[in-house]
Amino acid sequence: MSDQYSLEDNEDAVALRDAWERVIKTVESNLPTTVVKKFLRPLQPVLLDGHTAVFDTPGQFVREWIREKYISLLQHELSKEVGKTVKIDLRVTARERIEEKPDAGTVTLRPVNVDPVTPLQSNGKYRFDNFVVGQSNRLAFAGAKAVSSAPGTKYNPLFIYGASGLGKTHLMMGIAYEIQRRDPKCTVMYVTAQQFAEEFVHALQNNRIDQFRRAQRGVQVWLLDDVQFIAGKERTQEELFHTFNYLYALGKQIVLCSDRPPRDLLLMDERLRSRFESGLVADVLTPDTETRCAIILSKSQQEGIEIDHDVAMFLAESIPSNVRILEGALNKLAAQASLDSGRIDLQMAQETVERYYSTITTSKPNFEQILDTVSKHFQIPVNDIKGQSRKAPIAHARHIAVFITREITGDSWKHIGALFGDRDHTSMMHGYRKIRSLMNRDKDLNATVRLLIRDLYPEV
Ligand code: ADP
Ligand code: MG
Repeated sequence: MSDQYSLEDNEDAVALRDAWERVIKTVESNLPTTVVKKFLRPLQPVLLDGHTAVFDTPGQFVREWIREKYISLLQHELSKEVGKTVKIDLRVTARERIEEKPDAGTVTLRPVNVDPVTPLQSNGKYRFDNFVVGQSNRLAFAGAKAVSSAPGTKYNPLFIYGASGLGKTHLMMGIAYEIQRRDPKCTVMYVTAQQFAEEFVHALQNNRIDQFRRAQRGVQVWLLDDVQFIAGKERTQEELFHTFNYLYALGKQIVLCSDRPPRDLLLMDERLRSRFESGLVADVLTPDTETRCAIILSKSQQEGIEIDHDVAMFLAESIPSNVRILEGALNKLAAQASLDSGRIDLQMAQETVERYYSTITTSKPNFEQILDTVSKHFQIPVNDIKGQSRKAPIAHARHIAVFITREITGDSWKHIGALFGDRDHTSMMHGYRKIRSLMNRDKDLNATVRLLIRDLYPEV
């Protein structure tokens, strides 16, 4: 079967959603509230194909239960709403499907010819073989490789998150490159969330929504970078949700990158967040010194820059910040060396680091900056963080702010207590310890705190 499908199905999907809302309203009054809440509301209409309405079901149990008791009622009501006889096809969402055998109820869609989709013009600069793997990015790298060897089958979606300059886009490009190398006919789309949002708005304004959807949805592999950009943009999120469901229902591979884990995308619709979490979620952290050194050596080799191991190690040790900055330093040194002897020596490296990069290691963020960063991340006002509320999300943000303040400034508990609105020093210690022990158990929290700390260090 061709991999390109009619877009009428997408518009039908919108109609299906509306119809489904009305069905729920109709049956709501005759069914127990818990049934509606636990079994019907969680169903997600995905698409309408001819006389088949496809729904995502959160689990095997819900599916069986609905099939047994309510399917004919729901089919009857839905048929009335859409104006033709429809059969409901319940599918199970990703999390559950991993342990399951392939679903028996498959969707059959009409293949049609659509405009050719522009494949990713991957320039081959970012590949797996020039990505340096270390402890900080091992899982993300493994996920990216697995996805490229069998798109759409293993980890779907693959969600990679981490601070800026740590190789997320490199991995995405690597996936695209690898897939197209193995199968040049495979259609891959790489799009940043910003482009997605802009093109969507443009398409809306110019009545070109069909073309937009065709481009986004007619591919076998869809890579969406910097997805945090869409948080808070409601219509774009809605569109993203449907694009996601559409591609997902057809078994297409989806890869997403973000600066934070799905659960911290606070302005993102809950439905999207849980979709993002349903495959493999992998983080990229700041690489350790050895990995940074290996990255410098690898980059210098690719660029034909001559550099000794001890100079590379010196750079890796003095520039702890992101890899992009490290690369910038290497290029600066290379440019300078080409004017002088042609070789980067240790003295030249020391002078350059001193002149341009010393601020990275010496200037510490202050308390106001810490509060501000935590406040923005959790969307809790600074005054609440410093205030007296004991509400769980506020107290949690406060404890994290305490933790970070202590980690970064090393101030005494008494002093930190004073900064947080004259609090007792024992409560500060308590908050700190709580976060520290949580971080040992909770990988995502651990990553969040590290990301926040990283964000606090100025970039050159
Ligand atoms: P992000 O998308 O996370 O902001 P990028 O993928 O754009 O970061 O990476 C920034 C630069 O750092 C790129 O030139 C990339 O090749 C390089 N880089 C980051 N991590 C690695 C790595 N582990 N190995 C090789 N290069 C890396
Ligand atoms: Mg990027």
